[in-house]
Amino acid sequence: MPTGIVGEFLDLKAETDADVLAMQCGDFYEFFADDAELVADELDLSISQKSSHGSSYPMAGVPLSELTPYVNALVERGYRVAVADQYETDSGDHAREIVRVVTPGTVLETSDDDARYLAAVVREEGARSAAGGAGDAADAGGPYGVAFADVTTGRFLATTVDDGGDLRAELYRFDPAEVLPGPAVRNDDGLLGAVREDLSGRVTAFDPEAFAPGRAEHAVREQFGRETTDSVGLDSELAVRAAGAVLSYVEETGAGVLASMTRLTAYGADDRVDVDATTQRNLEITETMRGDADGTLFDTVDHTVTAAGGRLLREWLTRPRRDRGTLADRLDAVEALSSAALARDRVREVLDDAYDLERLASRTTSGSAGARELLSVRDTLALLPALADAIEGSPLADSPAAAVFDRVDRERAAALRAELDEALAEDPPKAKTGGGLLKRGYDDELDELIERHESVKSWLDGLAEREKRRHGLSHVTVDRNKTDGYYIQVGKSVADQVPEGYREIKTLKNSKRFVTDELSEKEREVLRLEEARGELEYELFEALRERVAERAELLQDAGRAVAELDALASLATHAARRDWTRPELTEERRLDVEAGRHPVVEGTTDFVPNDLRLDPDREFLIVTGPNMSGKSTYMRQAALIQLLAQAGSFVPARAAEVGLVDGIYTRVGALDELAQGRSTFMVEMQELSNILHSATEDSLVILDEVGRGTATYDGISIAWAATEYLHNEVRARTLFATHYHELTTLADHLPRVANVHVAVDERDGEVTFLRTVRDGPTNRSYGVHVADLAGVPDPVVSRADEVLDRLREEKAIEARGGSRGGDGTSASDGPPGDTQQVVFDLSSGSFSEGEEPSSDAAEATDAGSSDPRPNRDGTAPESSSGGAGAVAEAAAAAERDRLDPETRAVIEELSDVDVAETAPVELLSRVQEWQERLE
Ligand code: ADP
Repeated sequence: MPTGIVGEFLDLKAETDADVLAMQCGDFYEFFADDAELVADELDLSISQKSSHGSSYPMAGVPLSELTPYVNALVERGYRVAVADQYETDSGDHAREIVRVVTPGTVLETSDDDARYLAAVVREEGARSAAGGAGDAADAGGPYGVAFADVTTGRFLATTVDDGGDLRAELYRFDPAEVLPGPAVRNDDGLLGAVREDLSGRVTAFDPEAFAPGRAEHAVREQFGRETTDSVGLDSELAVRAAGAVLSYVEETGAGVLASMTRLTAYGADDRVDVDATTQRNLEITETMRGDADGTLFDTVDHTVTAAGGRLLREWLTRPRRDRGTLADRLDAVEALSSAALARDRVREVLDDAYDLERLASRTTSGSAGARELLSVRDTLALLPALADAIEGSPLADSPAAAVFDRVDRERAAALRAELDEALAEDPPKAKTGGGLLKRGYDDELDELIERHESVKSWLDGLAEREKRRHGLSHVTVDRNKTDGYYIQVGKSVADQVPEGYREIKTLKNSKRFVTDELSEKEREVLRLEEARGELEYELFEALRERVAERAELLQDAGRAVAELDALASLATHAARRDWTRPELTEERRLDVEAGRHPVVEGTTDFVPNDLRLDPDREFLIVTGPNMSGKSTYMRQAALIQLLAQAGSFVPARAAEVGLVDGIYTRVGALDELAQGRSTFMVEMQELSNILHSATEDSLVILDEVGRGTATYDGISIAWAATEYLHNEVRARTLFATHYHELTTLADHLPRVANVHVAVDERDGEVTFLRTVRDGPTNRSYGVHVADLAGVPDPVVSRADEVLDRLREEKAIEARGGSRGGDGTSASDGPPGDTQQVVFDLSSGSFSEGEEPSSDAAEATDAGSSDPRPNRDGTAPESSSGGAGAVAEAAAAAERDRLDPETRAVIEELSDVDVAETAPVELLSRVQEWQERLE
């Protein structure tokens, strides 16, 4: 075991469970051994060798003042970094101790304005595991207590959720940078795996004791007082345990921000709208399916001018609510702000100058705020009267926008502002020590020190002149440096004329340096005063910061008011710009939208508005229409209008009556998900399963294709059964887009099911998408039209059209082409160019012989709708393929021979595909591949 500095390092390292240790050695923080290698690797630091008792150790270091960016960079990469500071012991030696462990969830100096959460999750020991593969059927397990703290702002929330699915939804919403799983959760690999899949944050194993009921509750009481757990509605022990663990962790890491965690917000299930992780992704609330921030709902409606406003608006959108009171207040405020354009602009103008008070509160309590930050506090508090002016004389005065603002204790805010104003120098240096932070007149003792300091300094400043005059010397300067201290420097030419009392201390090339007793004394004085001044000033500054920190709650209130006004003004701005309307929140189970638009898409295209009506007589809409006609857009639009209304926003529509929901569930088609590379039939079914388990009669369900990832019969069967179940058992308000037209007949049999379709206009073979949603079903897919749009070669498209027409009318297609000429493999008797009649039986996917449709095939198809489809009982109609298949093939083969080899290969592959047995996803990718090859 090495001793000395490396030994000390390794001892400290053994004390902590941090990944990396930075240890102060004089003016540097050093990393040794493995840690040195790690930081050198990660951060491009150069490595040197430190020998210690015959061994040599890698070493890397950074100057004291540069530690923070290095530590943050390591933390960004997911490491937990311990920092050990050096101190002097009573005996005058140097020792070191760990003062802080910086972790992803407790880092204070973040590079962006986003909230950064630390989460703790607790489950009863012995409770059933959530098993939790992605979207596990029931996502059972639980209940769970979960707490979230943003140490950069002091925001702290806790709740209880019922099961693993809800837990994942909550985690996905807050997107914590670090998760602390409690003892029972830590051993649940399934759940942890799922959490890791959803989140980019780090999972940290923390002392199980911290999650224990007794200790956790104690931590919560210590922080918030005896009554807390009852008064904030933390009714469940699990939520208390999660909150307690978070507090212990924050304390243990030494972030020093406990004092900024001034309140704990408990929120319950009745307040929450269930928006599971999948739905949050599908609706592209804060992130598109591709993972971009641009083009999301948040990006679209965000016109906030402050960081805190942006954070809050994001929170509103990701955490829609159900309590009417809150929503009505927000809507009233948005309404007032949207109609009072002048006042709104004035408010936003003032807000634009605001700094992030919530963050500043945390930085004052942690002791990291410098004079400039306190100035930012002062300047932001100084905006409050201007905001009051903007609100009071305006139409906003009686709105909840004014009420938001009234919650701030403006008298105390003004007092604090005045105190800061009296204390702080106008343009303080960045460094916290070294003077210049405080104003003259703030403190008598300091003023006196400053005066004496300045007077000695001016004595020194005038010394050279005085000496010149007094002793008739030319070339005299007075200066100071580190080794010589203050000195009088005299040019060589006159060096022998210096008066008595000058003691020479150094000879330079052209000059000599002298000191005098008087100068030495003044030097001692100036140094003493300098130090005393700096110390007193920093002491006063710290006391000032301490007093600001004591008012963290006031800062947070003011910061929160700024954020709320900003978020409300942002919603109002968007509503005014885009002509959105106030939704009428109703007690009824309905979603009635007149001329609704998609909030994001309307900004990028000439949008065709559409109506939507879901009510107790019409709960389930089957949406049909061609590919690309606008089904998805229509359904997402419904979900987003619902979500916006429950975030307290106006909505893109002429009028909207919105019954509040307890959850919004979506599952989008395999095709959309293909882009995300997570399209498996299993995932699709897990999502469906989750919806069928979780949705209630107060939920909104959006199903965009179900069953496409499997063979046709399976797909229809599942879609059919899911429709019945949702309609009969769950009774959720549901929009279901499907390309299985069979489902549209359900409207005749199930009372609350109705059909709508996206209309197209077809004239002279030209198909135009109208983007208009009408009542009733459609029975055509216009797949050929889409193939045309996609650039499939004209001969293929027009031929496909003919085939389709034939199929519709007679269920028979002729196979064009003649027999292969003279190669001896011919299976056809007909001459080249002959046309053969064969029947293509859609259900079996094979051809059958005959001039006329075979009776088998006719029966099979007639048993269904006007389209040739499988039998209603779900069984396959009997196949009747026969010898004509061979005839047709031979004819086609002759045709193929005239084509180039690649085209021929494509056609061969095409004809080999078993349509009924191939998943549409697979078909899609194969068609894409063929297209590429044909090009
Ligand atoms: P589908 O789900 O039927 O395949 P999408 O909803 O994906 O169709 O829409 C296809 C395209 O049509 C998208 O590019 C979309 O922007 C556009 N679109 C959809 N609805 C409308 C509308 N009401 N007005 C204008 N464009 C629309």
